Amino acid sequence: MNTHRRGFLKSAALGTAGALLAAPALGDAPETTKPFAWQPVEERLKNLRTKTGLKIVRIETFTRGTNLSVVRVTADDGSEGFGQISPFDADLSAQVLHRKIAPCVLGADPGDFEAIADRCIEANYKFPWSFVCRALTGVDTAIWDLLGKRAKASVCALLGGAPRPIAVYGSSMSRSIRPADEAARLARLRDEKGFTAFKVRVGKVCGHDQDEWPGRTEALIPTVRKALGDRVALLADGNSCYRPAKAIAVGRLLEDHGYCHFEEPCPYWELEWTAEVAAALRIAVAGGEQDNDLAQWRRMIRMRAVDIVQPDVCYVGGLTRALRVAAMAAEAGLSCVPHSANLSLVAVFTLHLLAAIPNAGPHMEFTIESGDWWKDLYSPALEVHDGRVAVPEGPGWGVTIHPTWLAKADRQVSNWRS
Ligand SMILES: [Mg+2]
Repeated sequence: MNTHRRGFLKSAALGTAGALLAAPALGDAPETTKPFAWQPVEERLKNLRTKTGLKIVRIETFTRGTNLSVVRVTADDGSEGFGQISPFDADLSAQVLHRKIAPCVLGADPGDFEAIADRCIEANYKFPWSFVCRALTGVDTAIWDLLGKRAKASVCALLGGAPRPIAVYGSSMSRSIRPADEAARLARLRDEKGFTAFKVRVGKVCGHDQDEWPGRTEALIPTVRKALGDRVALLADGNSCYRPAKAIAVGRLLEDHGYCHFEEPCPYWELEWTAEVAAALRIAVAGGEQDNDLAQWRRMIRMRAVDIVQPDVCYVGGLTRALRVAAMAAEAGLSCVPHSANLSLVAVFTLHLLAAIPNAGPHMEFTIESGDWWKDLYSPALEVHDGRVAVPEGPGWGVTIHPTWLAKADRQVSNWRS
């Protein structure tokens, strides 16, 4: 049964390839009218591995509070791009950027984005992953913006995609909400915004098999399905809650009510547990949002711990590394549904990624919680219409960082010295 399930997922993942276009080389205008031609991500990246002849001479961080830090990278001809450090404790990551990342980036050609990412990881091999990747994301995403602006192409067009509306799932972040209230608000959002998919939270974060309160998960799963009907896709996130036996029991309940995606059922570092759950269930098991070690990703994919890969563009170290995860997954026939749990620039990066990769899942994560910490950061704001969000058009990421937001931020600068 498991082989059949995986076979189905493989064909489903590859079936999404129809939206892709051939990639323009850097400096060319995007050719959005070309008919689709299958081209693996690796092949498309090859087209972009072109030196620009420029040199990165300045990296600035603009940090506000602890959640957000925007990065501007400037080249020696004055061209620039904006990116963002991974949210949360971004003020710490900004320090890491100036101390541990900037020395590996200043003086480099922005066209060497892959070598830059690798150098940042290897130079910090004694400080692996989390904060190094969070800081690297700021530089990597700013370089992609610079390359897009220079080519007068959106980032997704550089990668062979085209800006278009992307279907999203409304992602609940709440475990404190009662099942009946959750079902009512999701039904309201379905009617108001046209969402065709939602994700709810089951169990407790790193919960050792415990629920947020006894019986919540068992009540939530059928209550939400009943309120939304059979035509809405339903996803559930365990946030590392369960050991295998309990995860399988919850997974069966999800299957009984037609849910399609069971995320992070077990502590995410317990790959064998997650693989055991994935092998036992028909429902697709998803995971990987916390993972930023590409070798760990390779193991996860090879052992089929998950059916759906979920790199977070910001946690994993930027678009370049997220593309590598997506490419590994595509090769294995797995679909990619990145983690993108807030509306800071991570949502913009993820839209571009999904508009370009051949194995994009059917829906992108889009929070339904109101948050004010990303407010006024950029425009145009991302809006849901008919259950879809448009990839911002225009060069680079297609968004403008508000000067008023930058003006209120703490600015730090690293300059290149020859
Ligand atoms: Mg999750």
